[in-house]
Amino acid sequence: MINVEAGKHFSSYDYYRALFESTQKNCVLLLDGSGIILEVNRAFLLSFGYDAADLIGEHFSMLFTEEDRSKDLPMREIHTVLDEGQSFDNNYLVNKNNVRTWVSGESVLLSKTRGQEGILKIIQNIHTQKESEYSIVALNSFSENILATIDDGVLVLDQELKIVKANRSFYRLFELSDASLREIGMPMLLDTLDKKNELSSAITAALGTGNYNSPFQLDFVDAHGVNRGFEVSCARFESQPGKPNVLIVFHDITIQKDQERQREDILNFVAHELRNPLTNIILNIGWMEMQMSEGKPDGYKEFLERAARNAERLKKLINELYKSTKLISRNYDLQAGPCILGECIFECIEALQHTHPDFYIEQQPGIAVTVLADKDKLMQVLNNYLSNAVKYAGENKFISVGTAVGDGYVTVAITDRGKGIPIKELPFIFNRFYRAEKTRSLEGLGIGLFLCRQIIEAHKGRTWVESVEGKGSTFYFSLPIANSDTIY
Ligand code: ADP
Repeated sequence: MINVEAGKHFSSYDYYRALFESTQKNCVLLLDGSGIILEVNRAFLLSFGYDAADLIGEHFSMLFTEEDRSKDLPMREIHTVLDEGQSFDNNYLVNKNNVRTWVSGESVLLSKTRGQEGILKIIQNIHTQKESEYSIVALNSFSENILATIDDGVLVLDQELKIVKANRSFYRLFELSDASLREIGMPMLLDTLDKKNELSSAITAALGTGNYNSPFQLDFVDAHGVNRGFEVSCARFESQPGKPNVLIVFHDITIQKDQERQREDILNFVAHELRNPLTNIILNIGWMEMQMSEGKPDGYKEFLERAARNAERLKKLINELYKSTKLISRNYDLQAGPCILGECIFECIEALQHTHPDFYIEQQPGIAVTVLADKDKLMQVLNNYLSNAVKYAGENKFISVGTAVGDGYVTVAITDRGKGIPIKELPFIFNRFYRAEKTRSLEGLGIGLFLCRQIIEAHKGRTWVESVEGKGSTFYFSLPIANSDTIY
């Protein structure tokens, strides 16, 4: 129980002295009305390293930094106290050893004592707090900088799946702007991205239990029809106690996946296509050895011819394979120059007509157009499209080549009335090593169209196909038309 009566034995002067002399944390200065230091307590001396003799009689502005003195901060403080009776300040005070300490101060005007105005200045050392504040700000800006510069997409959601933050890479990877992301909102974004519900489950798990889930792979088809792959990780954190957020990191692995697929394609190709002629060569050498051991030299010729034919095929396969990998690694230079497209088409038709006189290959009349292209490569594309039209023609031997111009591009269309391609196989027809199921009995490697696409894309053009099974196909490519500036 508090003994109220006991308080009566102490005067307010005793309280003030106790507060002034014995307090450990509150530093106190007593100033006169002009800012001269009259008294200073022990806490101040301990905190700032001064002796009383260093301070008493000096102007309190000596405790300010030079910068603050030049801004007249000490005298402004004095005037505020004198005018308003009080002043609150946050600034640096300089220790005896010149170290600066961030303080929070309150000055109050004392009633006139000893005939003059007095100011009581109570100071709290909040340097450690200030330093932590600074380091939090620095840490925040450090994290912001990391977020802005990394290639991974980062998204932060709150418990209601509202988007709290998205970094620059997230917008870039998903081709969104701040406005479009807000308009779509997270539920709709999940609808397009998350067909297998994996991302939604990971978000729910992170927000719920907070258990760490290992990264998973998210595949989706983007707005341009390109297959994209991301390695996604979700982690929970609390921005405020009891308010969970989920941090989602999208690491783009489209290129890695593409390279993996290409490696697999090549390995499959080597395993299937190269093995046949090689086995054939080995068999024929075996037969020859047998003939030799049996002293029958007459049988050699046939086996030798077969082995040579297969060795030739093997060489061709390896060459084509090499060409296709070289193109993929963008290792070749285009020797571009102005090419009159109609003339190139005519040259190709003429050569093919010569070797296939039973075909009727028509060149439709069109506007004369010049393109900036590597002529050999352009002829390779035309040749490939035309040779395929011949190869997959079936009974109908009519082929037509047309050109159309629009939007700064010229489009070449090569139409046959042959076997056609089933609709389900159309998306894969330009892939490396892809061959439609029904035409696999005809000799081929499945590299030609792939090379055509690489060549045309290297010329900033596009390739595509339209086909009806049993009725025929039209293979297209478009190229930018060279204007007078690009023709030299
Ligand atoms: P290849 O002809 O050596 O197999 P391509 O890359 O030139 O290789 O063609 C890939 C596949 O596309 C062919 O195997 C064939 O199934 C299909 N194809 C190409 N052109 C035609 C066409 N004009 N008509 C029907 N199918 C075609």
